[in-house]
Amino acid sequence: MRLEELDKEFVLQTYSRDYTNFVRGEGATLFDSSGNDYIDFASGIAVNSVGHNNPTLVNAICKQAREIIHISNLQVIEPQAKLAQKICKLSDYNGAIFFANSGAEANEGAIKIARKYGETEFKKKRYKVITLEHSFHGRTITTVKATGQKSFHTPNFSPYPAGFSYVNSIDDIYHSIDDETVAVLIELVQGEGGVQPFDRDDIQKLALFLKKKKVLLIVDEVQTGIYRTGEMLASNLYGIEPDIITMAKGLGGGVPIGAVMTKHKDILKAGDHGSTFGGNYLSTTAGLAVLEVLSNLYESGELHETLIHFEMKLKDIAKRYSDLFDKEVGLGLMRGLRAKSADIVSKVMKNSMKNRLIVLKAGRNTVRFLPSLTITKDEIDEGFKRFEKAIITI
Ligand SMILES: *Cc1c(COP(=O)(O)O)cnc(C)c1O
Repeated sequence: MRLEELDKEFVLQTYSRDYTNFVRGEGATLFDSSGNDYIDFASGIAVNSVGHNNPTLVNAICKQAREIIHISNLQVIEPQAKLAQKICKLSDYNGAIFFANSGAEANEGAIKIARKYGETEFKKKRYKVITLEHSFHGRTITTVKATGQKSFHTPNFSPYPAGFSYVNSIDDIYHSIDDETVAVLIELVQGEGGVQPFDRDDIQKLALFLKKKKVLLIVDEVQTGIYRTGEMLASNLYGIEPDIITMAKGLGGGVPIGAVMTKHKDILKAGDHGSTFGGNYLSTTAGLAVLEVLSNLYESGELHETLIHFEMKLKDIAKRYSDLFDKEVGLGLMRGLRAKSADIVSKVMKNSMKNRLIVLKAGRNTVRFLPSLTITKDEIDEGFKRFEKAIITI
């Protein structure tokens, strides 16, 4: 059976997939089964943070696999404790971490922490969580309800958990808080929603206000975290210390891992939360290797140079193709081009693939770029050469 037929017959068809069969990757370049090279400006949706076949990551995983892959969380796990310490240190955050296996699961953990805080800290129970329109927080029943996009709340999966409401802007949060509000959950740069960063001053003002009101600020850094915006966390870039921060995508370099970090270390007690796989030897060893690579890249100034170069190339395209794109958006290596129509985005996507370049879509009309943080200048230049070939005929 051909691969496409195999997939269509035996895999639930929840994605509209492309059927290029990739068999190998090197840095920010992927190779299909016929040996064609593709420039990867998507990195598995911000997951392959250190690129494909990164020797530090691969060696660490292989070595760990020969020792222990998994034991349960009923035993202490050395790389888990070390990774927790390293994340806190690199993000300059005085907190503790629970490890899960995905972004949605990390957000579930964050919501559980908030709910327990709301139950135990106040005379009148607080349980409501405010999130933003165009946000994305995951695909579980709870996190899909936390996601501020109507199209996700189909009656197919109802009833959803109560207590979630959505506002249109940061400013609208203030008057939406009532005496039952326990937390505000936001991304600092909305990823899936269209690569939309919020204003730094607005976020700092909000953080201060919520602190006064004893309403928890949960920042979903599943996409923005792990140096994606140029700093370890977008929270570092924005100069805030949220009550709870979630991470996932870039942390394991492709090995599934999620993390929820909080400075409220005593809310969850033994038995309150758990995960069979979360924080096992393999995934946390991968996390340690990824952070070793990326913190070195950050300290040496190379990461900064890469993102400046990428930004320059993107701005140049935005300027020269102003007939197609209104502007370039985003931060660090989380970037987008806001197209004049959804139709332009689909054409860009299709033509890019034909020119052996992988890009993503976000929101309705944004072409999204999430290259690996280790991408070379040559790969960036080659990627934009292909991008221009792809869009010149539109
Ligand atoms: C991808 C993403 C999630 C969901 O992560 P999964 O690993 O797919 O569950 C949640 N929040 C944000 C901001 C994301 O970008």
